[in-house]
Amino acid sequence: MALAAFENDFTEAAAMQMELFSEFAALPQAEVLISTAAAAQRGSELWQAVLPEAVRWLGEAVVQNWLRHLTPTGLSDDTLILAAPSKLMQDWVQNRYADDLLRLLRRMQPNLKSLHLHVDANVEMPAAPEVSAPAAEELPVLPMLNLGAPIDATRNFDNFVVDKSNQLAFEAARRVAASDKVEFNPLFLHGGVGLGKTHLLHAIANEITARAPQRRVIYLSAEQFMYQFIRALRDKDTFAFKEIFRTVDVLMIDDVQFIAGKESTQEEFFHTFNALVDQGKQIILSADKSPGDLAGVGARLTSRMGMGLVADIHATSYELRLGVLHARAERAAVKFSTEVLAWLSTHITSNIRELEGAFNRLVAHAQLTGAAITLEFAQRVLADQLRQQSRRISIDEIQKQVVQHFGLRMTDLLSPRRARAVARPRQLAMYLAKQLTTCSLPEIGRAFGGRDHTTVAHAVQTIDSLMANDAALADSCAALKRALA
Ligand code: ADP
Ligand code: MG
Repeated sequence: MALAAFENDFTEAAAMQMELFSEFAALPQAEVLISTAAAAQRGSELWQAVLPEAVRWLGEAVVQNWLRHLTPTGLSDDTLILAAPSKLMQDWVQNRYADDLLRLLRRMQPNLKSLHLHVDANVEMPAAPEVSAPAAEELPVLPMLNLGAPIDATRNFDNFVVDKSNQLAFEAARRVAASDKVEFNPLFLHGGVGLGKTHLLHAIANEITARAPQRRVIYLSAEQFMYQFIRALRDKDTFAFKEIFRTVDVLMIDDVQFIAGKESTQEEFFHTFNALVDQGKQIILSADKSPGDLAGVGARLTSRMGMGLVADIHATSYELRLGVLHARAERAAVKFSTEVLAWLSTHITSNIRELEGAFNRLVAHAQLTGAAITLEFAQRVLADQLRQQSRRISIDEIQKQVVQHFGLRMTDLLSPRRARAVARPRQLAMYLAKQLTTCSLPEIGRAFGGRDHTTVAHAVQTIDSLMANDAALADSCAALKRALA
């Protein structure tokens, strides 16, 4: 229900946005564009006054690179006329900054209705003024902190366990957090649910805030971004919305896949993105898929999102799961045996979030009952969780999906054939059976044409170790899991 309402809101908001745009489009062209000396003088004064504001809201780079090269040539009651030295400059400013400029200008001259840009190659620009940013203490206090979501101080780099599956993402995140220099923009982290994307974003924010407290970091989910945008549209105040985003140093948007199919949000996101990149601000994004695989997101945006560094987080390995549990156990109030930790790592394989959930349930139960956490205790407490996993998915379904995915025949999958084209999918199917069902190794072996349990164990190990380096295999695995979910 809530979601449906949200969608309705959104359609309404999109309609409002159209209205806002057409408001500008429908404005009559300024009828008289004759520039008298006096008009030029008035225009010039207004323009000089607005430039420092533009520095404040659009950033120094935008002003130095673009706006500074415009020359005011006239001012009628309702139109400011600006000459640009080239068509490129005219288009660029018109498309990107005209709306913002107009609103800034209206703050000084409320009856101003439009901005007219024209090309005049003869316009002399020797007097283009040097414009500098206002001193820090003059900057307005922005409602910045209310916009983003809070940062969880307990998620940092120190308590993030690293192995092959997440090393690239981890290193990239640390690099971005360690310096103000923008090396890759954006940093795009992707991977399945519960694999540590949000943890890394929070770790970056915590590190930056500790190292450089003056830097403005905003963290929010793509859903919150959309919500803020809708609100801005409803309040007819998209300018404030833009101002806020364009004055950050680091913008992090989590779960970008959410904007799939939401075109107005994508449009706004695209502009925010460009504005920030232009100003050399760092953008960090996360999603459940790589930019290219984000269905329902426009190509213009996905190619932009793939421009920087794209780092993926693969499915967890047994070692990573065990490592995370060991780290947790060290800090836990209850004692865990290695045996129990190993058992958990073997049976809760979907992701770190589920693993932590299971771990926390054990701690809670142990504290409540005062019982020690033995293997039997763990099996009993988590029986439901494990049964649920296995009830959902059967080996049969896994085999059908794998056959379909790789274009094989079922008889191939169950046959003794060892050709790579058959053997690898078969191993993956066994791996999935181990991960997604609670069947034992011998049970799985039987379901695959009566194979030995050591064959199954070997298959699971092989896939586990290939996964970190074989992107195609990891993709197949992720696709199959989605199909089975
Ligand atoms: P995602 O955003 O990818 O869905 P999260 O970042 O929310 O996943 O991670 C889920 C939980 O697992 C969080 O509590 C997080 O702290 C923990 N977690 C994930 N990966 C790791 C890791 N490599 N080391 C330690 N904790 C992790
Ligand atoms: Mg997350």
